[in-house]
Parts: sequence; C-alpha cells; structure tokens
Amino acid sequence: MKTVLITGASRGIGKEIAKLFAIENYNVVINYNNSEDKAIELLKEIRENGGSAIAVKADVSKNDEVIKMIEIINVEFGGVDVLVNNAAIASQTLFTDITEIEWDKIFNINVKGTFNCTKAVLPKMLHQKKGKVINISSIWGITGASCEVHYSTTKAAIIGFTKSLAKELGPSNITVNCVAPGVIDTEMNSKLSSETIESLKEETPLGIIGKPIDVANTVLFLASDKANFITGQVISPNGGILI
Ligand code: NAP
Repeated sequence: MKTVLITGASRGIGKEIAKLFAIENYNVVINYNNSEDKAIELLKEIRENGGSAIAVKADVSKNDEVIKMIEIINVEFGGVDVLVNNAAIASQTLFTDITEIEWDKIFNINVKGTFNCTKAVLPKMLHQKKGKVINISSIWGITGASCEVHYSTTKAAIIGFTKSLAKELGPSNITVNCVAPGVIDTEMNSKLSSETIESLKEETPLGIIGKPIDVANTVLFLASDKANFITGQVISPNGGILI
C-alpha cells in the first residue's frame, strides 16, 4: 500500500485530496497546523469509511517539526511515496502595505515549507528510485495578481522549484509536477466580496468557480502510474480562465 503525505490537509483542497486518496487505498497522512479539531474529524471520517490514515501536527515552515513528522510517518507506514505540498496561506494586501514580517511569513510557509517537506521525504524516495512530488501553485503564480504580490510571488517560486527539481530528480525516477488551480471554493477565498467572486466567474469560460474535488482529481492523476512519463509540468484546473 502506498503512502501519501498531504500538507495542510485539515481543510479545503488538502482535505479533499486526503479523502480521495483514502478511497484509492493509500495510507493517508493528514498534516495540519492550527486546525486540530478539523484534522481529527477528517481522520475519523476516513477510518469510519475503512481507510488507513494518521493525522500529524507540524508547522511546515519549521524544519524540526517537519523532520519529526517524517520520523512518525516512517515508523507508521515506512515512508512517503507521494508528497503533496499543499499547505499555504494567502492574503489580499496592497504591495505598499505588505510588511517585512508578512513577506517573510508567507515565504516561510508557502516556499520554505515546500523545501522542508520535500527534503525530508527524499532520502527514502532516492533509495527506492521511485516517488512523486506534487506541488500546489496557483494561476496567480502564472498570471500575477493585483494586491497579492507576496502570494503570487510564492506561487511563481513553486513553479520554478518544480521545473528545476524535476530535472535534478528525473534520473532517480522521481517525478515532480505542479498543479496551479484557478479560483476554488474554500476558506482561502472567504474574504473576497460576492462582487469579486461574480466577476471571477464571468472571466471563467465555464462560468463557475472550481471545487476542491476538481484539484484533487488532478493530483490523483499525477500521483498515478498513468502519469509516469509526466514531470516538470504545470497543470492548471481553472475552468479556462487562462485561455
Ligand atoms: P485553505 O482552505 O486556507 O487551507 C489551507 C490549509 O493549509 C489548511 O489546512 C491549513 O492548516 C494549512 N496550513 C497553513 N499554514 C500551515 C503551516 N504553517 N503548516 C501546516 N499547514 C498549514 O486553503 P485552500 O484553498 O485549500 O488552498 C490549498 C492550496 O491550494 C494552497 O497551496 C493554495 O495556495 C492553493 N490554491 C488555492 C486556490 C483557491 O482558490 N482556494 C487557488 C489556487 C491555489 P491549519 O488550518 O491546520 O493550520
């Protein structure tokens, strides 16, 4: 049985990815930071449905916490076969109002968190000469977004990280890909006004915003053997908004 670690799986897109991989018979590691109640609720739901899962608290921006999390996973499941770097924060702020503290915080979680988790799972993947790393970016990392310069820059960094690491790890049979969703209905967008959501729908050819399952299905495909020849790619479930 393969093991998947999904960072930031207590809510939103990460939660949906965890549920889908559990249905597909993976051992599921639900990583969370603040939302312990939600992570435990998800853990119970997966187990009640016959799935195999554990929940592990770790702030992905803190390397020592990530290393401890991987040690727990190694004991429970023998390592990570699929890593989904999903945990992230976002906020809408004018560039001139972004403080150095906010800039460092978002980079530490969104970019350094991806670095920490990937480094920690790689020794086993390299030993096995097999593994899949899937990083969650965003359309705003491709197009840029006003009032989200800090967030968009982290998401662009994730694309560079993906393409570079894919080249380095290809010879070790480890694929590294990126999913860059369009607008998805989660708490991350809860502060957007209904007018903004409506105008985003209008800009989307399919006329709707996405659901977490739309992203989860893309991640599941990239984790599967059907995607064995795909690496260094950015796949964007976005309703056509970029076309
Ligand atoms: P969300 O609903 O705000 O959930 C964020 C998740 O990240 C939570 O589970 C949270 O866990 C976790 N997290 C935050 N900081 C963390 C930390 N330091 N350590 C560990 N976990 C941490 O966000 P979402 O919409 O599901 O977004 C998931 C991913 O999709 C993100 O990478 C986001 O950038 C990307 N994305 C989202 C959209 C969208 O429209 N929603 C579009 C494009 C891309 P706790 O609550 O337990 O702290």
